[in-house]
Amino acid sequence: MQKLDLVIIGGGPIGIACGLEAKKNGLSYIILEKGPIVNSLFHYPTNMQFFSSSEKLEIDEIPFISKEAKPKRDEALEYYRRIVTTNKLNIHLFEKVKNVEKQDNSFIVISNKNTYHARKVVLATGFYDIPNLLNVPGERLEKVKHYYDNPHYYAGQKVAVIGASNSAIDAALECWRKGAEVTLVIRGDEVGRRVKYWVRPDIINRIEEGSIKAYFNTVVTAIHENALELDSNGEALRIDNDFVLALTGYKPNFEFLMKLGVHLSEDEKRLPEYDEKTMETNVEGLYLAGVICGGMETHKWFIENSRVHAKMIIKNIIHKPVTTPKE
Ligand code: FAD
Repeated sequence: MQKLDLVIIGGGPIGIACGLEAKKNGLSYIILEKGPIVNSLFHYPTNMQFFSSSEKLEIDEIPFISKEAKPKRDEALEYYRRIVTTNKLNIHLFEKVKNVEKQDNSFIVISNKNTYHARKVVLATGFYDIPNLLNVPGERLEKVKHYYDNPHYYAGQKVAVIGASNSAIDAALECWRKGAEVTLVIRGDEVGRRVKYWVRPDIINRIEEGSIKAYFNTVVTAIHENALELDSNGEALRIDNDFVLALTGYKPNFEFLMKLGVHLSEDEKRLPEYDEKTMETNVEGLYLAGVICGGMETHKWFIENSRVHAKMIIKNIIHKPVTTPKE
């Protein structure tokens, strides 16, 4: 088995940035991606618009030209796909990494298709695969979705959107504009403060005029085929309902991190341990890149501020002296 310099797990924007940097520096590398190129972005809502302007999403200063200042999902797919194809990056798609084992100074990476031997591993698996569940009866019903794609599906339906952040608010507004009867269920007492500054007044006005019904200080307690049970300010309510969009965020695969030996903080943030200058974890030779670094603080890292990880990691791999295995 040929030993690679580097296996990059995850072909999102940051995994791709790592691959590009590895290639530019003459390292032998492979990117393993369990879905299509930038799988998470591919699964974002069809009409989604980034909050970042396009130049802030650029990798390695390769120009990202978009129609408006803030690009749409389709434009981002085009951009990152072109980076992969034009630079002929070595990426294996629809190949899921199942396990990584450390052996002396290197790693055995086992996917559903192959086994690789690598000196270093970069984990750039993001956080979009595992939704934060409501953990209430009825959550497994088919009408409950943790991912939202297109408002057309919900026209004429009674849709409850759970959550108060960007994803929930975008979905609520879009569905209402396409003819759904939308109810927002919000755990706190206001629409999220991080909601895009040009969207927040829109939702607040729709709530105030009564177009979208919002329950604040409210949680879902049970989901039925045609109804929802709520606890609203301590009062039990039941509302008619056809679909639930539970957009309450996502979390990194902590089990996978722990299996690899990465230490997590013991508080609710579950921050992985890594050196902020090099991105190397407490497991020597294993690096983290992208949004996975934030643990449960999934708003902390995004493309804009984590694209730098690629250069930090590759620089460290190139310049770090090789340590000899212990006898
Ligand atoms: P991801 O893009 O999530 O990539 C991780 C990849 O790893 C995925 O493709 C996944 O399929 C793959 N993977 C996971 N497990 C495995 C495995 N075991 N084997 C192989 N592959 C695996 N950021 C901004 O900077 N600006 C914005 O405007 C912005 N808007 C956003 C809007 C929405 C709706 C959302 C949800 C996020 C937004 N973000 C934004 C955040 C940004 O999209 C993420 O920060 C970005 O995707 C992070 O890139 P990443 O490469 O770290 O992770």
